[in-house]
Amino acid sequence: MADRRRYSFYRGLFTGDVLNFSKRSPFVKEIMFERIYPSKIILPMKMHSGVPAVPTVKVGDYVRIGQCVGVPEKGSFSVPVHSGISGKVSDISDLRLPNGILTPAVTIVNDMKRTRLDSVRPRSALKLSAREAIGVIRDAGICGMGGEGLPTAAKLKRARTEVVKDFLVNCLQSEPYATSDLVAITEYPDYVVLGACACARAVGASRCLFLISEYRKEQRQSIANSIERIKDDFRDLEFDIKLFRERFPQGYYRLVARALYGKNLTADETLEKSCKAVLFNCSTMLACWEALSDNIPMMSRIVSVSGDASGGHNMLVPIGTPVSELLLNAQDINNGSDRIVWGNCLTGIEIKDPERTPVVKTTSVISVVRRVEIPRTPCIHCGLCSECCPMNLSPNTIYEMLNQGLKQKAAEEGARDCIACGSCSYVCPAGINLTTAIASFAGEGRIIEVNSLLDNSNAEDRDYEDYKTRYIGEASLLEDYSDGDEDSGKSSPDAIKLPFEKDKEV
Ligand code: SF4
Ligand code: SF4
Repeated sequence: MADRRRYSFYRGLFTGDVLNFSKRSPFVKEIMFERIYPSKIILPMKMHSGVPAVPTVKVGDYVRIGQCVGVPEKGSFSVPVHSGISGKVSDISDLRLPNGILTPAVTIVNDMKRTRLDSVRPRSALKLSAREAIGVIRDAGICGMGGEGLPTAAKLKRARTEVVKDFLVNCLQSEPYATSDLVAITEYPDYVVLGACACARAVGASRCLFLISEYRKEQRQSIANSIERIKDDFRDLEFDIKLFRERFPQGYYRLVARALYGKNLTADETLEKSCKAVLFNCSTMLACWEALSDNIPMMSRIVSVSGDASGGHNMLVPIGTPVSELLLNAQDINNGSDRIVWGNCLTGIEIKDPERTPVVKTTSVISVVRRVEIPRTPCIHCGLCSECCPMNLSPNTIYEMLNQGLKQKAAEEGARDCIACGSCSYVCPAGINLTTAIASFAGEGRIIEVNSLLDNSNAEDRDYEDYKTRYIGEASLLEDYSDGDEDSGKSSPDAIKLPFEKDKEV
């Protein structure tokens, strides 16, 4: 019998309709899907959790679509970076991202010829072994597209090590105005489902569960149709669609653990260990299937450009596209007075220089919202922040404790459980920025999460002795993983010399 339950956590913000969050907008919210070919891209070497990749090109080099322009140093927790356009490298310099990260960045000027690498071509992805599939995903530079950008291959390896049973696909995009994941499902449902099945098989899961909002009937139907089409190829997997209530921040792994498995995870517990499940974003699954079946590295993504000051644009753009080029294509945006936010309007960061701010692998939305300045007053003890906190915290109490330097007391009050959702700051009528103080205090919990993945990344180096020969000059990083080739370590005559370390080859 079908599971008719509606899963959820308590509290949070009731977004109702992610596109009509404020219910004040005068714009018609038609979702449009557009393809953008920018005049240039700026590729930061750090768009993920971990250390920056190292550029492998120099100014003046010609690059093609799909070409690797940055590789991880051996043994580092990182992912490679690829170009989504063809053209010449015009600049390699440091770039300060809105989140404060300083990273080397490669700028490529588009020649508009769309010249692809020959290696970008279809292959029989179903024949790949688990080891090869995870290797392809690693070399394709795929990281989580819905959140912090944890390298997907490391997460898959951890899930395999923990012997997970459930492979969860997060189709629950709940951030206000963001619909990029929903568009990915509508436009490419088979890619999302096939990517999930291939990854579920690679980690040895027995169930593949799609988590989606109860209101997303169209996307739900698309997923159900896709499952029907492909299930004969994946008889080893059991499929199900789990319906969730629409509220923000639905989809965060600790809230999913509570809703689906009834477990309250602490900051140092993982879904894999405690619930024998692993959670991936649906857009990440799309990227995985593109890499596995078409040899396409992670070089483009769908981005929503939307807010209470703009219609519901969704653009398929090469990663690295400057935000200014997105805004140019969203005609209804009044650049002068609106706030342009890198990310969603609750947790994102205002963009000061759209020309020098690129779309990165984790950018699901550029929010365009009207500028509203709430006058800052002392706390009026209205309790709204506690009412909406999905982690059942008392943000005003914790905020006061942190202000007075009482860190131990704040920790006892549960401050480390904050998931930085931004809800408390959003609802506060006193205009107090509660989130920044509490979330930075809680940040240490995330370090534990990354550390547990680091263990897997080191193990990976022992598994892949052919590391040096895999990164091939002009060819795609995926060349080594051909159809069903168990012994995938071809040697390359031209290993690349790293520009920053003289004698080091990759
Ligand atoms: S305290 Fe943290 S988890 Fe709670 S509402 Fe504020 S930002 Fe969200
Ligand atoms: S929402 Fe703002 S004013 Fe109300 S209790 Fe929380 S901190 Fe105080």
